[in-house]
Amino acid sequence: MESPGFGARRRSVAVSVEGVIVGGGHPIVVQSMTNTDTADADATALQVARLAHAGSELVRITVNTEVAAAAVPEIVRKVRGLGAAVPIVGDFHYNGHKLLSDYPEAARALAKYRINPGNVGPGRHHDDHFAAIVRVAIENGKPVRIGVNWGSLDQAVLAELMDANGRRAEPRDARDVMIEAMVESAIRSAELAEATGLAHDRIILSAKVSGVRDLVEVYRRLAERGDYALHLGLTEAGMGMKGIVASSAGLSLLLAEGIGDTIRVSITPQPGGDRTEEVAVAQQVLQSLGLRSFMPQVSSCPGCGRTTSVYFQELARDIQTYLRDQMPMWRERHPGVEDLRVAVMGCVVNGPGESKHADIGISLPGTFEDPVAPVFIDGALDRTLRGDHIAEKFKAILDSYVELRFPAVGAAR
Ligand code: SF4
Repeated sequence: MESPGFGARRRSVAVSVEGVIVGGGHPIVVQSMTNTDTADADATALQVARLAHAGSELVRITVNTEVAAAAVPEIVRKVRGLGAAVPIVGDFHYNGHKLLSDYPEAARALAKYRINPGNVGPGRHHDDHFAAIVRVAIENGKPVRIGVNWGSLDQAVLAELMDANGRRAEPRDARDVMIEAMVESAIRSAELAEATGLAHDRIILSAKVSGVRDLVEVYRRLAERGDYALHLGLTEAGMGMKGIVASSAGLSLLLAEGIGDTIRVSITPQPGGDRTEEVAVAQQVLQSLGLRSFMPQVSSCPGCGRTTSVYFQELARDIQTYLRDQMPMWRERHPGVEDLRVAVMGCVVNGPGESKHADIGISLPGTFEDPVAPVFIDGALDRTLRGDHIAEKFKAILDSYVELRFPAVGAAR
């Protein structure tokens, strides 16, 4: 049973990023980051547009060199030319203060700047460089994300807290101090940004680590320290199943506590792999938790000794693919269709029951069962399919159901 308050959102300020609202109880925003060379405006614009098309509501690009900074306005123009209105965020390390002041067109074209307080400059330059970026943000009316990362944690803050810890009668362990240093770095940087003149509702915070338990701990503490909007993500999550599972676990634990206003899944793609996978995973995390809807969901059983052919697996895959392929058109034409629940089940044991819980479900015949496939609609047996072409017949039933349940925009309801 769902515990009371599951996912009830922590109070946070709303930050507008070119009209996309992060925080303030607004729907949790999905974001992503390109991995193209930003200096290659064509490749970067194409990938930004692809990520946006996949559902990324903010896309970040690295701005690491003068050539990259010079390319930013062209990238934004090209992305708009490709029909994507997605806000484009600049990721700055080491030289952000210089690039943003030397390339004012880039500063204007970007929707938000990400500053890593561990990478703005050493010693006495640290605060000056940080404040220089903040001043550009103020001049251009842009929000910033203060993004702490444990791989580049501000060493001055860490050393200060380690020294203080060493003087304690009962010193805390190093992990605890590291987590505290991340929170301190984020909060002190936010205070410096506000002291420089940036409005409270122009600041988003993040503090990313690569371990799930550390992530939960650092964000819980960050959430207790104020009402800044929070960007969640496990950094360097890894590749394939490991990255997906670790990200899902970390994000889910925090989102269930209401912590997090925007998320990114930082998985390493396969060589030549599809960068949009990180968007699909982020959406699936939010939809699995019942926090947002993006795609009709298919429940299918794992199969067992009662399903000795692969037909059931093929049908589950076909239906999943069919729904995904229909979504670009359905999303426009049939608002609400993303809440559709479909079941594709392997046999009579749980098939009819699960199918009845879905909006529309099919229970295939298991081994030794009659070769018939009952279809359930809105909890009741609607018809029984048999013979060849069950998949095609079921897709046609799905189409009719969507037309009826989610009337086309403009059609009489
Ligand atoms: S529904 Fe049937 S085929 Fe699927 S796992 Fe359960 S018993 Fe096995």
